Amino acid sequence: MIIQMNQNAMPDEIKNVEKMIEEAGYSVHPIYGTNLTVLAAVGDERGKEGLYDRMVSQPGVDKVEYILPPYKLVAREIQKGIIRPDSVIDFQFEWKEGTKSIQIGGSDFVVMAGPCSVENREQVLESARFAKKYGACCLRGGAFKPRTSPYSFQGLEEEGLKLLAEARYEHGLAVVTELMDAHHLELVDQYADIIQIGARNMQNFMLLKSLGSTQKPIMLKRGMSSTLEEWLMSAEYILSQGNNHVILCERGIRTFETQYRNVLDLNAVPALKKLTHLPVLVDPSHGTGHADLVAPMSLAAAAAGAYGIMVEVHPEPSKAFSDGKQSLDEERFKHLMKILPPVVHAVGMRTSWNS
Ligand code: PEP
Ligand code: MN
Repeated sequence: MIIQMNQNAMPDEIKNVEKMIEEAGYSVHPIYGTNLTVLAAVGDERGKEGLYDRMVSQPGVDKVEYILPPYKLVAREIQKGIIRPDSVIDFQFEWKEGTKSIQIGGSDFVVMAGPCSVENREQVLESARFAKKYGACCLRGGAFKPRTSPYSFQGLEEEGLKLLAEARYEHGLAVVTELMDAHHLELVDQYADIIQIGARNMQNFMLLKSLGSTQKPIMLKRGMSSTLEEWLMSAEYILSQGNNHVILCERGIRTFETQYRNVLDLNAVPALKKLTHLPVLVDPSHGTGHADLVAPMSLAAAAAGAYGIMVEVHPEPSKAFSDGKQSLDEERFKHLMKILPPVVHAVGMRTSWNS
């Protein structure tokens, strides 16, 4: 931590800050300049955020800056150049033909596909059928929907979860579904293989803390106005509660541009690789809001080094209860799965499907 003292700081104010630094377990390295004094507090500053808050309010202190990022468990670098390898999220599930294993963050590029909302049995089973046919490994679908309007379709809740479970059994796809409220964790945990935390809840800290009571993989989507550091701090909440199985999903951020729903921040993919060992997926559906932009941005996501994508599909997008405009029908999904492999292979990853 670097503490810059005010130009007019009195010697006893400088002494007071030096004492606080030492009492907190750091060593102090002062630089006494002709105009101002800078104090370097040397030691692992993570987990000592309370000191930062006290330091900024001390008399004579101008600025306090961290040297290390404030997250620890999700950090790529553990200590002094020790680099953590990528985490592989590995899990299994049962379907009618036996047990299946999935790895996210390994050598296979993963594709999650499914409707925005679970609407009815036919719609889920039909989406699962073609998602599987062209190579998806996971079926996404919301049973609890975070809708902007309270008058919009809110989801089928447990009935929706049961339909997803039926589709898993029939088609051998792992189920990814959103949890919006800690009170529903036990219920969602019974049906989901991956629990999704949506953009709107990325900083719902009580919800994040509740996830320590499950060992299911958590897919944490980026908040629509969140920095990478805020996002990683949210992931840190989950790991700090004892669940290390976290996948990050970039889903676009809010900018001044109105031509599309969000701006898919693909910078985040290589940038996060440097900052964290957690695997990163990309959601080009919410990231663009337009079905015709999903395929090119999926290719771009693969080229940027994502471990996979999550896309919305629907048997009849024009009749979807939510997000029909960005949903791929069977033909469009088939086309996407055909054009993806060359790009995936070019960056050294494998595809488990034949295109
Ligand atoms: C979703 O994936 O269904 C969803 C609501 O996405 P987001 O939380 O990214 O808006
Ligand atoms: Mn959606």
